[in-house]
Amino acid sequence: MGKTAVCPGSFDPVTLGHLDIIKRGAKIFDHVIVVVLHNNSKDGLFTVEERVNFIKESTKDLANVTVDYFHGLLVDYANQKHVDVLLRGLRAVSDFEYELKITSINKKLNDDIETFFMMTNNQYSFLSSSIVKEIASHDALVEDLVPPVVETALKAKFESPAT
Ligand code: ADP
Repeated sequence: MGKTAVCPGSFDPVTLGHLDIIKRGAKIFDHVIVVVLHNNSKDGLFTVEERVNFIKESTKDLANVTVDYFHGLLVDYANQKHVDVLLRGLRAVSDFEYELKITSINKKLNDDIETFFMMTNNQYSFLSSSIVKEIASHDALVEDLVPPVVETALKAKFESPAT
């Protein structure tokens, strides 16, 4: 049986940094499920449906990548899908501390789950969804940071209303 990994995140919105991890993961695992987690404590710029659609559009050429969403604990999602591998990306030391915390909690909740980390591609080491939103809100170009579908959506979101 093929090995499946779940790649979780807020993806609000998906960036080229996320897509780099997803694409590289898709070469290693037989199947990658990208899951948009709906987080109670985080209000998103985009709805979960929009985020899912952005990822679907940007990964449509990857036959072994599927996209889903979930409201709840990641370990519960993994159990439901009978998946025991999580895939995450690491950028900086600050990511490490956060990921260590999350991984430890997930391990406590389900000891059978393993988390695999992939180092960011150097060119995306500074890139985050928050930075993209900040840049787009000031009408600056985000074309090298996000896929075209997200660039268009950000433009529409931050377009100044006609006076
Ligand atoms: P979360 O809200 O769970 O941190 P994100 O959507 O911000 O989710 O990120 C999902 C995953 O993608 C995390 O593992 C994060 O570290 C990773 N990631 C985000 N941006 C990049 C990037 N530029 N390069 C590599 N990994 C990244």
